[in-house]
Formats: sequence, C-alpha cells, structure tokens
Amino acid sequence: MQTIQMSDLYGQYLSMKDEIDAAIQEVIRSAKFIKSGKVLEFEEKLSQYLDTNVISCGNGTDALQLAFMALKLKSGDEVITTPFTFISTVEVLVLLGLKPVFVDVCPNKFNIDSSKIKAAITDKTKAVLPVHLFGQCADLETIQSLCKKHGLFLVEDACQALGTDFLFEDGTIQKAGTVGNIGCNSFFPSKNLGAFGDGGAVYTSNNELAKMVRSVANHGRKEMYVYERVGLNSRLDSIQAAILEVKLKYIKKHIKMRQDVAAFYDEYLKEIEGLQIPTRANYSTHTFHQYTVKTKKRNELQMFLKKRGIPSMVYYPHPIHLQEAYQFLGYKKGAFPHCEQLAETVLSLPMHTELTEKQLKYIVDSIKIFFKK
Ligand SMILES: *Cc1c(COP(=O)(O)O)cnc(C)c1O
Repeated sequence: MQTIQMSDLYGQYLSMKDEIDAAIQEVIRSAKFIKSGKVLEFEEKLSQYLDTNVISCGNGTDALQLAFMALKLKSGDEVITTPFTFISTVEVLVLLGLKPVFVDVCPNKFNIDSSKIKAAITDKTKAVLPVHLFGQCADLETIQSLCKKHGLFLVEDACQALGTDFLFEDGTIQKAGTVGNIGCNSFFPSKNLGAFGDGGAVYTSNNELAKMVRSVANHGRKEMYVYERVGLNSRLDSIQAAILEVKLKYIKKHIKMRQDVAAFYDEYLKEIEGLQIPTRANYSTHTFHQYTVKTKKRNELQMFLKKRGIPSMVYYPHPIHLQEAYQFLGYKKGAFPHCEQLAETVLSLPMHTELTEKQLKYIVDSIKIFFKK
C-alpha cells in the first residue's frame, strides 16, 4: 500500500499532467505574466462558476484585507467573527485597526453560532465575518437577515469552502462566498481549488464594490500613475491562473471525490462509541476541505494512528482568543467554552482526491482497533 498522505497534491497533478504542463508552457510562450492572459481568463471562468464578480489577488489573507479596505471600515469599528479559525481571519482586522469581537461556535458544526451574534452587536459593529470552516457553510440565512436588520456588512471567509452550496429556506441555492457583500477565497495548494503556490480571490456581486476591490489591489489606482486611495499590490500570477483554470474544469469531480471519501468514513466510523463524525447542516452542502472528527481521546488516537503510518492534523489546537499575540483583546480562558473544547477534541483525517479504497479501509480499521482497546 502506498504511503498515506494528509493531502496528495502530486498525485492529483498526475491526473491532469498533460493539460497543466501545456497551460504553463502557453503562459511562458505568451509572456503575459501579470494582469493579462490567463489571469483574465481564469477570473472569467471562476466568475461563471460562481455567478458573481471575481477579482483575483495574491492569497486568501490579502483577499480578506482587500475586502475590509474596499468597505472603508474605520479604525475602531467592530467586526464580529469566530475564534475557531485560521489566524488570517482575525489578523487582517487588527492590521486595519478594526476590533475583532468573538462569538463562540456551534460545538457540532464548528462554525459561528448564529444565535449568539445579536448579543455581540454594539453601536460600533460594522460587519459580521463568518468562516465556512472545513468546507461547510455557516448559518448564512440567519446571519444575513441579522446584518440587514442592523445595517451591517456581511463578509464571508470562504477560503475553505470553494464549491459549497448554501441552501436558502425558499429553495434558492448560492455558492459559499457569494451570499454576503463580499466573499474571500484562497488558492493555497491544499484548499479545494489549490494552486501550485499562493493565490486568492475576492467575490462580490456589487459592481461598484468590485471596482473598488480592483483599485485597492492595484495600489489604489484610478488610471495609469493616478492614485485615488491608498492601496496595496496583490495579484495572482499567470502561471498560477493557468494551473487553476485547468483544475477548475475538474472541480465538480474533485468535490465529488472528497464527498465519496467522507461518505466512506461516515459509514465505517458512525457507530464507534467515543467518536463523533462531522455533523451536517441542513442549509449547506459539505465539500470537505477537511474531514474532522471529535473525540475526548484525541491525542491518544493521533499517536496511535501515527504509529500505524496514518497522518492526521489538529485544526486548530489553539483558539485565537488565547493566542499570545491577541491577548490585548482582553479575552480570558473560559470565554468561549465550545471553541476551547474543540481545540482539545478535534482531529482531521487524511482527505484528498487520491485516497484509495485500500488506504481508506486501513484508516477506518485502525480507528476501530483503537476504540476497541
Ligand atoms: C487558508 C485560509 C486563509 C488564508 O489563506 P492564504 O491563502 O494562506 O493567505 C484564511 N482563512 C481561512 C479560514 C483559511 O483556511
């Protein structure tokens, strides 16, 4: 049996090798490396897939920064978000002088608990920033109606959820990241649509806002050598765009492959006492950026799997409100009990498009052996 990997980027490349190699060569031959050629083509194709405007940028962290710069929030404005996320979500707020205000997560779905947001709204609140963790949407319909009622922007951190569908009660379906005023995505290699390096994108259905994001990402430019605002330089390069354009053709297939892996895990792990498989929300599909189980014996299970050659990861072992760098926000241990408990109990299992049935069987059998001991 081949070595099991947490994610298998090379294996996936081999399944598209000829097309990807040709696309890279085409960029080199065209010599259109920046803001032209493949970058524009890819933006157009992703825009069709998502049915909204897409502005590509340097990475997911930049996408978040661009979103808040384009919304022109001011120093001291408050943004409600989750402490159970990757650091970027919160880091950019602080860099822009905004104040992150945390709300605890739902212990089963891992996303911000929408029923607790209202109590966190103050006169200074300007936006809500849910994160669609592990590939499943936060409760966007509730959050969107709260935002409308209180005049707040809704910004989605959709970095882990490209291709996920949000299902509204009236039957409307929208892609993750396209429900709010702005959505942010990352093309970090292991994400649902991963580049061979860095990349990111901002989504918005508002054409004015799209123009603003484009300007901010291009040094705040109005026209050649004329700048109407302070911006930054954040762009996707053409080689990455060419790779992403090829991979986008297979996104549905790749998502289905991830969902098949998840279905296999579900089937064989659902009845193990002491282990909880991921809970599905009825308002979202799940694209399984990660397949994350919960158990009180997390560390022991991880060690046991490691000894059997099975990698696993803890996303995330330290809640952001307890990180040294963010102590100035003033939160103490115990502030967000669900988040803190998840940090001690979650474990993400190998999840990618190249896992074989034999490997999957070995993984679930190993987990069963652990819990029978
Ligand atoms: C990956 C990720 C980011 C940042 O993306 P980069 O491309 O690495 O900058 C932001 N938020 C979440 C939730 C992520 O998973």
